[in-house]
Amino acid sequence: MSTNEKIPYKIYLSEEEMPKEWYNVRADMKNKPAPLVNPGTGKPMTAEELSGVFCKELVDQELDDDTKNIPIPEEIFNFYKMYRPSPLVRAYCLEEKLQTPAKIYYKFEGNNTSGSHKLNSAIAQAYYAKKQGLKGVTTETGAGQWGTALSMACSYLDLDCVVYMVKVSYEQKPFRREVMRTYGASVTPSPSDTTEVGKKILAEHPGTTGSLGCAISEAVEYAVTHEGYRYVLGSVLNQVLLHQSVIGLEAKKACEKYGIEPDVIIGCAGGGSNLGGLISPFMGEKLRGEKDYRFIAVEPASCPSFTRGKFAYDFCDTGQICPLAKMYTLGSGFIPSASHAGGLRFHGMSPVLSQLYHDGMMDAVAVEQTAVFEAAERFARVEGILPAPESSHAIKVAIDEALKCKETGEEKTILFGLTGTGYFDMVAYEKFHNGEMSDYVPTDEDLKPGFDSLPDL
Ligand SMILES: *Cc1c(COP(=O)(O)O)cnc(C)c1O
Repeated sequence: MSTNEKIPYKIYLSEEEMPKEWYNVRADMKNKPAPLVNPGTGKPMTAEELSGVFCKELVDQELDDDTKNIPIPEEIFNFYKMYRPSPLVRAYCLEEKLQTPAKIYYKFEGNNTSGSHKLNSAIAQAYYAKKQGLKGVTTETGAGQWGTALSMACSYLDLDCVVYMVKVSYEQKPFRREVMRTYGASVTPSPSDTTEVGKKILAEHPGTTGSLGCAISEAVEYAVTHEGYRYVLGSVLNQVLLHQSVIGLEAKKACEKYGIEPDVIIGCAGGGSNLGGLISPFMGEKLRGEKDYRFIAVEPASCPSFTRGKFAYDFCDTGQICPLAKMYTLGSGFIPSASHAGGLRFHGMSPVLSQLYHDGMMDAVAVEQTAVFEAAERFARVEGILPAPESSHAIKVAIDEALKCKETGEEKTILFGLTGTGYFDMVAYEKFHNGEMSDYVPTDEDLKPGFDSLPDL
């Protein structure tokens, strides 16, 4: 410990040290992520086609594989200043508890009302919608963090916010819903009868509790059938990874300030936005051959896109109305087991991260949910923060890595993303405490219908 005594428990950058530009990791990738494809024509989506669904400037960001640094507009920067920089925390207490020679750091993104990193992209997407003169934006939300973040951003900018919330979450998390309504959003449980695609899904699967893919279809339909509305998405897309690079840029600067050199960088992976954001600047160094890091994506064993998915073109939504993305996917027909409580339930993965994983630039592991909640509780009891179940996937693997160091005596430096807080997830914690949580892992047979739903391309 003696060499690290100079490192404070929490490292905060000053306002002046906050990044003024986002970093676009695609600029440093030799193998670019595959383009979005129009399911009708089988050809790459043009900017014009995309601008019917997304805001214009966000379309430009989506398609830009070459510009390395993109300035953060002043209005967004000013909003960031309300809750950023986020701290880089040295987990001294956890290290002590584990008796590990490893040094553990986490970048904590839960210090805002929405409770997660999602606000970093929500404010950017709302800003560009406002700048384009739109009336409002539509979106889906699963666990509710993205919808909350977007409703905060929209109320700040005086934009209408229409949220389709996966029905099971709508019912299990009424307080999330009320936070969104407090910020002025309208929240509809999905599938609903307010859209054609919702009606169709309800007819085919009566009693369904919904899925993210289904809520996306409804939100897109609302946007394209209402004048002055566009659709926004909280993860997966290239533009979202770009906005989330603010996490990695701050983390890297904080590391440099104190001479911290991470060996392993770990993040949970749902659609890939926090992980992509955290690792981007470090991955850039690796891609340019300047430095080496081990990157680990952690996903739930019950929704294993990276570790058991196929790298293929697929729909992002159940209704199959969105463009096709080439990604690691379980198929848009995949719906995670109802016993799955830990979030990260999207069937696909960011095309950027998918390409990097395919090229062997990063690793992925799948973990079972009771082990995730054990890690969450262990962490909460020594570090104080009550982590989101999603974030706890990263905690689980960070602890595993630290315990390996204990065996080998290696003094590795581990950095992980602590994406948010878990106050709205107490139903899942309750299940865990009552011993009612099961570790369902889908069989190959269970995964087959999802794979069968993959389009031929
Ligand atoms: C949404 C969310 C995630 C997963 O999304 P990614 O796009 O994979 O980052 C992880 N943690 C929290 C707290 C979230 O809200």
